[in-house]
Amino acid sequence: MAAVMVALALPMPSATADDATTARSFVVGDARIDVVATAFPSTAEPVEVAFVSVHDDEETAVEAAGDVLRDRGGRLVELRHTGNREVAFRLGGTAHRIDPNRIFTPAGRRATLTALSEWSQPADDVVAAFADELLSTLAIDDVDVIVALHNNTPDRYTAANYAPGGSLATDAARVSLRPGGDADDFFFVTDPGLFDALADRGHSVILQNDATVADDGSLSVWCGRMGIPYVNVEAEHGHRAEQAKMLRDLVACLAERRPKRGLRIVATPPSGCELVDLAEIDASFVLDNRYATTDNVTGIRLYPANTIYLERSAADRLARVQASLRGQGLGLKVFDGYRPLAVQKALWRVKPDPRYVADPAKGSRHNRGSAVDVTLVDAEGRELPMPSAFDEFSERSHLAFVDAPGDLLANRETLQKAMRAEGFIPLPTEWWHFDAPGWRAFPVMDANPYGRPLFPDAKPGEATP
Ligand SMILES: [Zn+2]
Repeated sequence: MAAVMVALALPMPSATADDATTARSFVVGDARIDVVATAFPSTAEPVEVAFVSVHDDEETAVEAAGDVLRDRGGRLVELRHTGNREVAFRLGGTAHRIDPNRIFTPAGRRATLTALSEWSQPADDVVAAFADELLSTLAIDDVDVIVALHNNTPDRYTAANYAPGGSLATDAARVSLRPGGDADDFFFVTDPGLFDALADRGHSVILQNDATVADDGSLSVWCGRMGIPYVNVEAEHGHRAEQAKMLRDLVACLAERRPKRGLRIVATPPSGCELVDLAEIDASFVLDNRYATTDNVTGIRLYPANTIYLERSAADRLARVQASLRGQGLGLKVFDGYRPLAVQKALWRVKPDPRYVADPAKGSRHNRGSAVDVTLVDAEGRELPMPSAFDEFSERSHLAFVDAPGDLLANRETLQKAMRAEGFIPLPTEWWHFDAPGWRAFPVMDANPYGRPLFPDAKPGEATP
């Protein structure tokens, strides 16, 4: 994949010898972005907080965070590249530019690439892969609260924009403006309890309206969608003492309220996320939904039909793989795509091994409609032999496994190459499984697109397997 990761150690000027700084370098086109994480020593924390700065020109915010975190401990993650707000990169001879706080949803990436340069699928893919990696670096699955650090220019982006009649009024569910305060210094939150607590302490606070907020691909929109409490600590450039005071008050509120994130599970796909029937995207896919038969690890039918659904952008991507394979006299057979959370739970009961089945408490990329299980077929639709069977839970399924006849390894490589060429991300333990870049933009869904009950053999009233 295009987002290449290199581990390296960078000095962190504001950190002391006790602070552990790690940096990972990501390549986006021809640009390098360092994601620098500093762990300030802390005693046991009641809530897991990640402090994050995504704009490289917002120095005041980073300094203020350092002032506070040196006292109380915590984890600060910063993007560093050129010292500019935006990231510029070239890809295939074309110049692109993004705002790194507009990359967390497909609509946001399209808008930022279009507004600042131009959109293309390859550019979208590398930016999406970077967004996924950045969220992984934040250890997003273990975080209770994201605290974003931002600075603004006087009177351009202010709390007043969110008041009734303001340019951003539809993004806000509630607004509390501090009388006589500087409207450039304010909190923007997704959690109603934190809204109240910060307003009670006399701060200007905006509560995001998750239902009506414009999908600009920002971290706040993404966190709102995923059910992760998010706080933006927004202050004017140079307001270091003011921003540190805001952060200290926030830390006190977090210790009091102890917000905990849970896994946000939705019953219907949100806007910008559509589950489509693969056969309607390209009728030439061979469909072999193993979980619609008894020939699978559970021994029972989990799906009511041999139909496979995927989130639309992943389905379109898979159709491009199919088109490129057709030129080689080959095609794809698809075993599974979108998987309702109820089915994930059934699989987990049979195979509670996270190397092969994702823990339903965390959710699988299949549950987001963004993972697909595939193999190769010839022009007649016959499966090409691979080093192991699909869903064989053994080392023979690993990509590193080489103790197999050369033609089988070559088939595996042909599949891997074709999928990677369209941006799909492989899984080291399963040669058949691929994630679409940008999978983190979609929530875990417990939807049933089949229009018929799942687990067709279950007796009425019987618990699902
Ligand atoms: Zn899979």
